[in-house]
Amino acid sequence: MKKVLEIHDLNYTYHTPEGETPALRDISFSVKSGEFISIVGPSGCGKSTLLSLISGLLTPGDGTIQLMGKPLKESRTNVGYMLQHDHLFEWRSIYHNVLLGLEIQHNLTAKTKSKAHELLETYGLEEFANAKPSELSGGMRQRAALVRTLILEPDLLLLDEPFSALDYQTRLTVGDDIGQIIRREKKTAILVTHDLSEAISLGDKVIILSNRPATIQQTVSLHFNLAQDTPLHRRNTPEFKDYFNLIWKELNQK
Ligand code: ADP
Ligand code: MG
Repeated sequence: MKKVLEIHDLNYTYHTPEGETPALRDISFSVKSGEFISIVGPSGCGKSTLLSLISGLLTPGDGTIQLMGKPLKESRTNVGYMLQHDHLFEWRSIYHNVLLGLEIQHNLTAKTKSKAHELLETYGLEEFANAKPSELSGGMRQRAALVRTLILEPDLLLLDEPFSALDYQTRLTVGDDIGQIIRREKKTAILVTHDLSEAISLGDKVIILSNRPATIQQTVSLHFNLAQDTPLHRRNTPEFKDYFNLIWKELNQK
């Protein structure tokens, strides 16, 4: 299958007046089309730094990042980024928040507007199209943020702890919900999280990072014997517990 992302021997160090902070060391991995990769690692190990490099917000010290077989700089691959905070603008309605990226890209057409309505409808937000973000629950806001990202038709979706601002209960259902939407849309995705259960319930693979500077400690492929493979069903399987214990042990190895 086609590789959407290929990373080779990536290193990154922050240089500040206070000194040098090595954040990533010798990171190599690839992501195939349609794959959902979870990345876990201790807080402050370099997870967000890795996503910033993939999205082009930071430039690697050395090593290479290729998107669809081309170096990042030359690539026209559309990368979508979803963060912990939904960054919805309170003065805009949900519909107008969803259109924001299209506006920035000067791609607001009858066709893309009707796609916006279609996605809002599919994901249960159409009746809130004219509502302001504050009128929605935390989970619905995350859905709206996801619709705003999906409408740009990203080839690669980067998710940086997108559920961590939600309370535990909401987080379970929203994680399940968003995970299923991403699968349905057949998106290639990288989810960064410090929550093992979230990583195991959503991913095809879990990449475990070490303490800073992050190196890849292990990669675990996930397989579940389920007729209906959904995040919530996964949580109730014996495999889930085994994966949890395995990854927990890895993470706590010094
Ligand atoms: P994570 O997302 O895994 O919690 P980050 O990638 O945000 O970790 O950060 C990794 C390390 O790099 C941390 O020690 C952090 O303090 C440091 N760091 C992050 N951003 C900067 C920056 N702009 N300048 C200097 N150091 C930074
Ligand atoms: Mg982070």
